[in-house]
Amino acid sequence: MFRFSHLNRLVTVVTLLSLVGAFTLVADASHSWGSYHWARTVNPFTLKLGDNVSFAWDPFLATASGDWTQSSILNTTVVSGSTDSRRCRATNGRVEVCSNRYGNNGWLGIASIWISGSHITKGTVRVNDTYFNTSRYNTPGWRGFVMCQEVGHTFGLDHQDEDFYNSNLGSCMDYSGDPDGTINGQLSNEHPNNHDYEQLETIYAHLDSSATLLSDRRGTAAGALALARANLEELDLNSPREWGRVIRTARDGRSSLYERDLGRGEKVFTFVIWAD
Ligand SMILES: [Zn+2]
Ligand SMILES: [Zn+2]
Repeated sequence: MFRFSHLNRLVTVVTLLSLVGAFTLVADASHSWGSYHWARTVNPFTLKLGDNVSFAWDPFLATASGDWTQSSILNTTVVSGSTDSRRCRATNGRVEVCSNRYGNNGWLGIASIWISGSHITKGTVRVNDTYFNTSRYNTPGWRGFVMCQEVGHTFGLDHQDEDFYNSNLGSCMDYSGDPDGTINGQLSNEHPNNHDYEQLETIYAHLDSSATLLSDRRGTAAGALALARANLEELDLNSPREWGRVIRTARDGRSSLYERDLGRGEKVFTFVIWAD
Protein backbone atom coordinates (compact mmCIF):
# COMPACT_ATOMS: atom_id res chain seq x y z
CA MET A 1 0.00 0.00 0.00
CA PHE A 2 2.73 2.41 1.03
CA ARG A 3 4.79 1.45 -2.00
CA PHE A 4 1.89 1.95 -4.33
CA SER A 5 1.04 5.46 -3.07
CA HIS A 6 4.72 6.35 -3.04
CA LEU A 7 5.05 5.30 -6.65
CA ASN A 8 1.84 7.09 -7.46
CA ARG A 9 3.15 10.29 -5.94
CA LEU A 10 6.41 9.92 -7.80
CA VAL A 11 4.54 9.56 -11.08
CA THR A 12 2.53 12.67 -10.25
CA VAL A 13 5.66 14.64 -9.43
CA VAL A 14 7.41 13.50 -12.62
CA THR A 15 4.34 14.41 -14.66
CA LEU A 16 4.18 17.84 -13.05
CA LEU A 17 7.88 18.37 -13.66
CA SER A 18 7.50 17.48 -17.34
CA LEU A 19 4.62 19.93 -17.60
CA VAL A 20 6.73 22.66 -15.98
CA GLY A 21 9.55 21.71 -18.34
CA ALA A 22 7.28 22.00 -21.35
CA PHE A 23 6.04 25.41 -20.27
CA THR A 24 9.61 26.57 -19.65
CA LEU A 25 10.58 25.49 -23.16
CA VAL A 26 7.67 27.37 -24.68
CA ALA A 27 8.46 30.51 -22.67
CA ASP A 28 12.14 30.35 -23.63
CA ALA A 29 11.38 29.71 -27.26
CA SER A 30 9.43 32.96 -27.41
CA HIS A 31 12.50 34.95 -26.51
CA SER A 32 15.98 33.39 -26.52
CA TRP A 33 15.25 31.04 -29.46
CA GLY A 34 18.63 29.41 -29.92
CA SER A 35 20.94 30.49 -27.08
CA TYR A 36 23.38 31.97 -29.60
CA HIS A 37 25.90 34.14 -27.83
CA TRP A 38 29.31 35.77 -28.04
CA ALA A 39 32.04 33.47 -26.79
CA ARG A 40 33.98 35.11 -23.98
CA THR A 41 36.16 34.03 -21.07
CA VAL A 42 35.06 36.67 -18.54
CA ASN A 43 31.83 38.28 -17.33
CA PRO A 44 30.79 41.02 -17.52
CA PHE A 45 32.07 41.51 -21.06
CA THR A 46 32.24 44.54 -23.32
CA LEU A 47 30.86 44.62 -26.85
CA LYS A 48 31.95 47.40 -29.20
CA LEU A 49 29.30 49.11 -31.30
CA GLY A 50 30.85 50.77 -34.36
CA ASP A 51 29.15 54.09 -35.10
CA ASN A 52 28.36 54.39 -38.82
CA VAL A 53 25.15 56.33 -38.28
CA SER A 54 24.19 59.89 -39.19
CA PHE A 55 23.97 62.78 -36.76
CA ALA A 56 20.23 62.26 -36.33
CA TRP A 57 20.83 58.73 -35.04
CA ASP A 58 23.71 59.41 -32.65
CA PRO A 59 21.55 60.17 -29.58
CA PHE A 60 19.49 57.01 -30.16
CA LEU A 61 22.58 54.84 -30.51
CA ALA A 62 23.97 56.40 -27.31
CA THR A 63 20.70 55.72 -25.46
CA ALA A 64 20.53 52.10 -26.68
CA SER A 65 24.15 51.53 -25.64
CA GLY A 66 23.49 53.04 -22.21
CA ASP A 67 20.26 51.07 -21.74
CA TRP A 68 21.80 47.70 -22.56
CA THR A 69 24.84 48.46 -20.41
CA GLN A 70 22.45 48.43 -17.42
CA SER A 71 22.68 44.65 -17.79
CA SER A 72 24.83 43.04 -15.09
CA ILE A 73 26.40 40.73 -17.66
CA LEU A 74 27.47 43.03 -20.49
CA ASN A 75 28.62 46.54 -21.31
CA THR A 76 28.55 48.18 -24.71
CA THR A 77 30.72 51.05 -25.88
CA VAL A 78 30.15 53.19 -28.96
CA VAL A 79 33.39 53.39 -30.97
CA SER A 80 34.36 54.77 -34.39
CA GLY A 81 32.78 52.85 -37.22
CA SER A 82 34.94 50.84 -39.60
CA THR A 83 32.72 50.62 -42.69
CA ASP A 84 30.84 52.87 -45.07
CA SER A 85 27.22 52.94 -43.96
CA ARG A 86 25.86 51.89 -47.36
CA ARG A 87 27.66 48.54 -47.47
CA CYS A 88 27.66 48.13 -43.70
CA ARG A 89 30.39 45.51 -43.88
CA ALA A 90 30.66 43.41 -40.72
CA THR A 91 33.79 43.43 -38.55
CA ASN A 92 34.91 40.31 -36.68
CA GLY A 93 34.39 40.34 -32.94
CA ARG A 94 32.13 43.40 -32.77
CA VAL A 95 29.00 45.07 -34.12
CA GLU A 96 28.72 47.73 -36.84
CA VAL A 97 25.67 50.01 -36.61
CA CYS A 98 24.71 51.79 -39.86
CA SER A 99 22.13 54.25 -41.15
CA ASN A 100 21.50 55.14 -44.79
CA ARG A 101 18.76 55.53 -47.37
CA TYR A 102 18.70 51.85 -48.27
CA GLY A 103 15.69 52.35 -50.56
CA ASN A 104 12.05 51.26 -50.70
CA ASN A 105 12.88 47.63 -50.03
CA GLY A 106 10.26 47.31 -47.29
CA TRP A 107 12.34 47.09 -44.15
CA LEU A 108 12.62 49.70 -41.44
CA GLY A 109 15.43 48.05 -39.53
CA ILE A 110 17.40 44.79 -39.64
CA ALA A 111 19.95 43.11 -37.43
CA SER A 112 22.19 40.30 -38.68
CA ILE A 113 24.37 38.00 -36.62
CA TRP A 114 26.98 35.59 -37.97
CA ILE A 115 27.07 32.28 -36.11
CA SER A 116 29.81 29.68 -35.90
CA GLY A 117 28.46 26.66 -34.01
CA SER A 118 26.52 28.43 -31.26
CA HIS A 119 28.79 31.45 -31.06
CA ILE A 120 28.21 34.89 -32.54
CA THR A 121 31.28 36.07 -34.43
CA LYS A 122 30.09 39.46 -35.72
CA GLY A 123 26.94 41.52 -36.17
CA THR A 124 25.46 44.42 -38.09
CA VAL A 125 22.52 46.75 -37.50
CA ARG A 126 20.93 48.77 -40.30
CA VAL A 127 18.25 51.44 -39.96
CA ASN A 128 16.62 52.60 -43.18
CA ASP A 129 16.41 56.38 -43.60
CA THR A 130 14.22 55.98 -46.68
CA TYR A 131 11.45 55.37 -44.12
CA PHE A 132 12.84 57.24 -41.12
CA ASN A 133 12.86 60.43 -43.18
CA THR A 134 9.07 60.21 -43.57
CA SER A 135 6.69 61.83 -41.05
CA ARG A 136 5.30 58.41 -40.07
CA TYR A 137 8.62 57.14 -38.70
CA ASN A 138 10.64 60.29 -38.05
CA THR A 139 9.79 60.38 -34.34
CA PRO A 140 11.90 59.80 -31.23
CA GLY A 141 9.60 56.89 -30.35
CA TRP A 142 10.17 54.96 -33.59
CA ARG A 143 13.89 55.74 -33.74
CA GLY A 144 14.50 54.75 -30.13
CA PHE A 145 12.43 51.57 -30.37
CA VAL A 146 14.04 50.27 -33.56
CA MET A 147 17.61 51.12 -32.52
CA CYS A 148 17.17 49.48 -29.10
CA GLN A 149 15.66 46.32 -30.63
CA GLU A 150 18.23 45.85 -33.40
CA VAL A 151 21.15 46.32 -31.00
CA GLY A 152 19.46 43.84 -28.63
CA HIS A 153 19.43 41.20 -31.39
CA THR A 154 23.20 41.44 -31.73
CA PHE A 155 23.55 39.97 -28.21
CA GLY A 156 21.50 36.93 -29.29
CA LEU A 157 18.17 38.22 -27.96
CA ASP A 158 14.95 37.39 -29.77
CA HIS A 159 11.63 39.27 -29.77
CA GLN A 160 9.46 38.95 -26.67
CA ASP A 161 6.33 39.29 -28.80
CA GLU A 162 5.68 39.60 -32.54
CA ASP A 163 2.21 41.15 -32.60
CA PHE A 164 2.24 44.84 -33.58
CA TYR A 165 -1.33 45.39 -32.36
CA ASN A 166 -1.49 44.02 -28.80
CA SER A 167 -0.50 46.02 -25.69
CA ASN A 168 3.09 47.09 -25.25
CA LEU A 169 5.10 44.97 -22.82
CA GLY A 170 7.38 47.89 -21.96
CA SER A 171 10.29 46.31 -23.85
CA CYS A 172 11.93 47.34 -27.13
CA MET A 173 12.07 43.61 -27.96
CA ASP A 174 8.26 43.66 -28.32
CA TYR A 175 6.82 44.62 -31.75
CA SER A 176 4.65 47.73 -31.51
CA GLY A 177 2.71 50.11 -33.72
CA ASP A 178 2.83 52.68 -30.88
CA PRO A 179 6.46 52.53 -29.65
CA ASP A 180 6.37 55.43 -27.18
CA GLY A 181 2.90 54.41 -25.96
CA THR A 182 1.39 57.85 -26.46
CA ILE A 183 -1.30 56.86 -28.98
CA ASN A 184 -2.94 54.29 -26.73
CA GLY A 185 -1.73 55.56 -23.35
CA GLN A 186 0.35 52.46 -22.64
CA LEU A 187 3.88 51.44 -21.65
CA SER A 188 6.77 52.73 -23.77
CA ASN A 189 8.65 50.14 -25.85
CA GLU A 190 11.69 52.37 -26.36
CA HIS A 191 13.91 50.62 -23.80
CA PRO A 192 14.68 47.10 -22.50
CA ASN A 193 12.72 45.75 -19.53
CA ASN A 194 13.70 43.39 -16.70
CA HIS A 195 12.78 40.32 -18.70
CA ASP A 196 15.38 41.28 -21.33
CA TYR A 197 18.08 41.65 -18.67
CA GLU A 198 17.09 38.31 -17.11
CA GLN A 199 17.26 36.66 -20.51
CA LEU A 200 20.79 38.00 -21.01
CA GLU A 201 21.81 36.59 -17.62
CA THR A 202 20.51 33.19 -18.73
CA ILE A 203 22.21 33.23 -22.13
CA TYR A 204 25.53 34.39 -20.67
CA ALA A 205 25.52 32.46 -17.36
CA HIS A 206 28.39 30.20 -18.52
CA LEU A 207 31.91 31.16 -19.62
CA ASP A 208 33.65 29.85 -22.74
CA SER A 209 37.21 28.58 -23.06
CA SER A 210 37.80 30.74 -26.14
CA ALA A 211 36.48 34.06 -27.36
CA THR A 212 34.82 35.40 -30.49
CA LEU A 213 34.62 38.80 -28.84
CA LEU A 214 37.29 41.21 -30.05
CA SER A 215 37.60 42.93 -26.68
CA ASP A 216 38.36 39.64 -24.88
CA ARG A 217 42.17 39.48 -24.60
CA ARG A 218 42.13 35.94 -23.34
CA GLY A 219 40.67 34.63 -26.55
CA THR A 220 42.47 31.50 -27.71
CA ALA A 221 43.35 29.95 -31.06
CA ALA A 222 39.94 28.26 -31.31
CA GLY A 223 38.21 31.60 -31.11
CA ALA A 224 40.56 33.12 -33.66
CA LEU A 225 39.89 30.22 -36.04
CA ALA A 226 36.14 30.75 -35.79
CA LEU A 227 36.70 34.42 -36.57
CA ALA A 228 38.92 33.69 -39.58
CA ARG A 229 36.31 31.34 -41.07
CA ALA A 230 33.50 33.79 -40.43
CA ASN A 231 35.34 36.35 -42.52
CA LEU A 232 35.27 34.27 -45.70
CA GLU A 233 32.00 35.41 -47.15
CA GLU A 234 30.70 38.92 -47.68
CA LEU A 235 26.98 39.35 -48.22
CA ASP A 236 24.97 42.31 -49.44
CA LEU A 237 22.36 42.15 -46.68
CA ASN A 238 20.65 45.36 -47.81
CA SER A 239 18.65 43.12 -50.12
CA PRO A 240 16.08 40.69 -48.63
CA ARG A 241 17.10 38.21 -51.35
CA GLU A 242 20.39 37.68 -49.51
CA TRP A 243 18.81 36.81 -46.16
CA GLY A 244 18.16 33.14 -46.97
CA ARG A 245 15.06 31.20 -45.92
CA VAL A 246 12.30 32.45 -43.65
CA ILE A 247 12.42 30.57 -40.37
CA ARG A 248 9.71 32.51 -38.54
CA THR A 249 6.63 34.52 -39.37
CA ALA A 250 5.09 37.20 -37.15
CA ARG A 251 1.46 37.49 -36.06
CA ASP A 252 0.56 39.64 -39.08
CA GLY A 253 1.83 36.96 -41.46
CA ARG A 254 5.01 38.79 -42.40
CA SER A 255 8.41 37.22 -41.94
CA SER A 256 10.44 38.17 -38.86
CA LEU A 257 13.54 35.96 -38.91
CA TYR A 258 15.70 34.56 -41.73
CA GLU A 259 18.53 32.05 -41.87
CA ARG A 260 21.27 31.97 -44.48
CA ASP A 261 23.37 28.82 -44.27
CA LEU A 262 26.98 29.47 -45.25
CA GLY A 263 28.05 25.85 -44.73
CA ARG A 264 30.75 24.51 -42.37
CA GLY A 265 28.45 25.14 -39.39
CA GLU A 266 28.19 28.85 -40.16
CA LYS A 267 24.97 30.77 -40.53
CA VAL A 268 23.72 34.33 -40.74
CA PHE A 269 20.46 35.13 -38.95
CA THR A 270 18.65 38.31 -39.95
CA PHE A 271 15.86 39.85 -37.85
CA VAL A 272 13.61 42.29 -39.59
CA ILE A 273 11.06 44.99 -38.74
CA TRP A 274 9.00 45.78 -41.85
CA ALA A 275 7.68 49.26 -42.58
CA ASP A 276 3.95 49.64 -43.19
ZN1 LIG B 1 29.45 29.63 -25.03
ZN1 LIG C 1 13.58 42.53 -34.29
